[in-house]
Amino acid sequence: MGAVRPTTPLDRVAGAHDAAVLAVARRGDSVSRADLARALQVTPQAISKILGRLIGRGVMTEAGTIVSGPGKPTTLYRIVPSSRRAIGLHLTRSRVRGVVVDLTGEILERRELEIGRLQPVPELIETLALEARALAEVGSGELLGAGVGMPGPVDWGEGVYRGTAQPDPWRGASIRQLLLEELGLPVLLDHDSRAALVGETWSQPGLLDDAALVLVEDGIGASLCLDGNIVRGAHSHAGEAGHTVVRMDGVPCSCGRHGCAQAEYQAALEAGDEELAARILATIVVNLVRLVDVDRVVLGGRTVYTHHSASMDAIRDALAVGLRAEPWVHVEVMLSTRGTDLIAVGAACEVLEHEYGIPQALVGPG
Ligand SMILES: [Zn+2]
Repeated sequence: MGAVRPTTPLDRVAGAHDAAVLAVARRGDSVSRADLARALQVTPQAISKILGRLIGRGVMTEAGTIVSGPGKPTTLYRIVPSSRRAIGLHLTRSRVRGVVVDLTGEILERRELEIGRLQPVPELIETLALEARALAEVGSGELLGAGVGMPGPVDWGEGVYRGTAQPDPWRGASIRQLLLEELGLPVLLDHDSRAALVGETWSQPGLLDDAALVLVEDGIGASLCLDGNIVRGAHSHAGEAGHTVVRMDGVPCSCGRHGCAQAEYQAALEAGDEELAARILATIVVNLVRLVDVDRVVLGGRTVYTHHSASMDAIRDALAVGLRAEPWVHVEVMLSTRGTDLIAVGAACEVLEHEYGIPQALVGPG
């Protein structure tokens, strides 16, 4: 089994600066050294070194000059979106949604495949590889690898799907290793809600440093960004908000307990009680806000879009009641900017992040 590319502390500092410059460059047009120095609060000399590295790797380039007063004209720089590509695959029990994105996270192509039934692992790997190969045909930049986002529990570090308490043919499958052997490309495996949050931080750079993303697909998951870092936890399970209990002795859940938020939410929807389902979602959000003090909550996932107006109202009402004694606490609730592409795009963005020294469990051949 391949190892995660070693990242030294100095790599991380360099990677963080490179990533910060690219994050600024991703937002818009050409930038000068002075613009970048202001945005990163470092010296223009430091920016020159960073730009030298990024230009050397072909991910940024000079973009002409402007004259703004006497003296030497100012050189401008821009990102080269077509220089790199990454594939993102969103796997569920019944479908695979795939995208290939450029260096800025823009989608070059998307595909959707209904599987319709639960495939055994070898067949599943073939399906994922076929989708990835089709996406790899689009675009021209260096292909960095494929990211897979799927419902948990997933061990990000090991690249393994851990499985649920119910009979589960995918339980314990080393999806990352199997797919990497099949594709011959670096592969990364992550929990769908965490991939979604990475994708969202790319869409809203700098705004989600203390944020929760609540993902409602077949189940309910959450992911957290606290103090600017995406939280994974001791077992890579941080954010299993769907399996926090909202009713003692409630309906049985796939995890083996009773009254989990996810089981209660599904039972409410099956009973046609959208208002109760929205209140359960609101309870999860308020509990997260109380527990970890975030100022933004992003809602995403297929099921959210079907019921979003009831959900958003219920969440805003519950927050207004829950926080009424603390007028200094502001929490903004928003829908994901990425629609149903969110998880696939996020998994691709995780692959891109590895390119800039942000530690990611992307494992390549050899
Ligand atoms: Zn549960």
